[in-house]
Amino acid sequence: MSEDCLKTLTREASEMASKVEFLWHGGEPLLAGPSFFETALDFQRSTSRTQFANFIQSNGTLINDEWAGIFAQGKFHVRLSLDGPRFVHDRYRKHRSARGSQNEVIRAIEILQNVGINPAVSCVITEDSVPYVSDIYNLLRELNILKASFLPAFIHMNGSVLPPTLSPEGYVRAYTQLFDIWAEDTSGMSIRELEGIVSGMLGRPAGDCTFTGTCATAARVESDGSVYPCELHVGEHAELYGRVGVEPLFHILARRYTGRVGRLCTTLVPEECRKCKWYSLCHGGCYAAYVDRSDGTKFYYYCEARKQLFSHISQRMAPVTITRPN
Ligand code: SF4
Ligand code: SF4
Repeated sequence: MSEDCLKTLTREASEMASKVEFLWHGGEPLLAGPSFFETALDFQRSTSRTQFANFIQSNGTLINDEWAGIFAQGKFHVRLSLDGPRFVHDRYRKHRSARGSQNEVIRAIEILQNVGINPAVSCVITEDSVPYVSDIYNLLRELNILKASFLPAFIHMNGSVLPPTLSPEGYVRAYTQLFDIWAEDTSGMSIRELEGIVSGMLGRPAGDCTFTGTCATAARVESDGSVYPCELHVGEHAELYGRVGVEPLFHILARRYTGRVGRLCTTLVPEECRKCKWYSLCHGGCYAAYVDRSDGTKFYYYCEARKQLFSHISQRMAPVTITRPN
């Protein structure tokens, strides 16, 4: 992203809100180099009326003491990609030379922890990693990780779901097992997806956008300044909200509510979702993960899997809610 674009984005975001969150995401955002992030922090400091929070999602391979210092100084919330033990992680996360990258991620965690940053971790679950959910969880505990998210691998292209992926059956196995391990763990581990579901069951806001049906809450800004609903829609011309620097950010972001994706939760959610007993927890799922049914309608790829997961969790939670003191 050019300095001009970054400056305009920061200034216009600060004119719109007293609190702004930037999530730096790629590809690999560290490829932008330390000076890019130092400039970003300088721009943020120059707009004193707005409180900025910076989150960064990295594969961890470039993190060294210099990066750790920048993150500590800028109070970044760091999230690293770590799919599990080496035999799980290195299967898909390789350098061009085919060498796996798990060693470097573990090293990055240690470097960050040495400067007082305990990173969160994103684990992508594939069909291959389903049998190893407890190994993945144990590794996070060994590394003293206290925040994690578990994301289903889902690559959807031209109507087909491509590998590496997680089948609906694999989803049920992975997430029910994960819930059972997590429910017995007293370490204070936070797992975003499971906490969101439990929170929703207790009548509070439920999880991320794929659970809340709220595509319109955030926006993705590409390095050329183009703005989309999220990374899953980048490059889809019909979903382009606009371009930073070409028109005011305020106008661009208004299209979150009038654009196609922003309207999906009110217009395209299948009628059966609205009648579903789990609707308040699921809201029809993620619209980028809708697949075709044989009758020509579309539905959320993990619909049945989510129903089974919600049912499993609600059965596990029932005794807790019944015995809770007033
Ligand atoms: S398309 Fe899916 S991932 Fe993207 S904002 Fe909407 S619910 Fe979230
Ligand atoms: S569980 Fe299935 S039917 Fe129910 S809201 Fe989610 S996607 Fe719709």
